[in-house]
Amino acid sequence: MGESTFGRREAMAALGALGAGTLAGAAFAQPGVDRTSKAGPAPALPSGLGWDESKGEFTLPPLPYNPAALEPHIDAQTMTIHHGKHHAGYVAGLNKALAELAKVREGAGDAALVKHWSREVSFHGSGHVNHTLFWHMLAPAGKGGGGRPAGTLAAAIDREMGGFDKFTTHFKAAANQVEGGGWAWLAVEPQGRRLVVIQQEKQQDLMLTGARPVLGIDVWEHAYYLKYQNRRADYVNAWFEVANWGKAQDLYTQAAT
Ligand code: MN
Repeated sequence: MGESTFGRREAMAALGALGAGTLAGAAFAQPGVDRTSKAGPAPALPSGLGWDESKGEFTLPPLPYNPAALEPHIDAQTMTIHHGKHHAGYVAGLNKALAELAKVREGAGDAALVKHWSREVSFHGSGHVNHTLFWHMLAPAGKGGGGRPAGTLAAAIDREMGGFDKFTTHFKAAANQVEGGGWAWLAVEPQGRRLVVIQQEKQQDLMLTGARPVLGIDVWEHAYYLKYQNRRADYVNAWFEVANWGKAQDLYTQAAT
């Protein structure tokens, strides 16, 4: 299958190996699971992570809506730069790191730099996975975005978080209190399959191994600074107007059942 550099399974396994840190890795990459088998769990997103078999590298998946579609809550310029520059940069960084590690295996690279490139895979791979999820976790207000969860996710929030209002109090505080750049996530922890709210510093560090994402907010400044400047709390409030609870329900169903 043209394994001159690395194959899809290897690349996906590399992302999965972020595992200790990356909740989103659990959504996409199941190390050891053959994606061609019907027995494996379905990917979280039909478009996946943009793996291009012919190029042997990841490509930037398109936004699932127009960059202006989330206005006025998230502005078009922010979306264009966030997707076209920042997310694209993570894809390029991931491809670079995976290629450098492949060179090391082939005896052509500097084995002393494996720690460096491994960290690059973790950072850029997590950035790619997180952002691929993030775009789908948003939708235009009133057209899939905003409102409240329904179904089993709403029931789980009532049961395990004390209700939607208490959840949002917790989630907004978690998002607002991420130090520097990072993320806040509603996720399913894998042991008891209960909902948790967690912070992720930068984008690769996460305490809860194997947590499965349900809904997440990017609170790096590049996600809001053009419109909201230092007012992160205003961005977090506005973000709820475009939060895609239908997608969250899909991810919750996959993670909790
Ligand atoms: Mn971002």
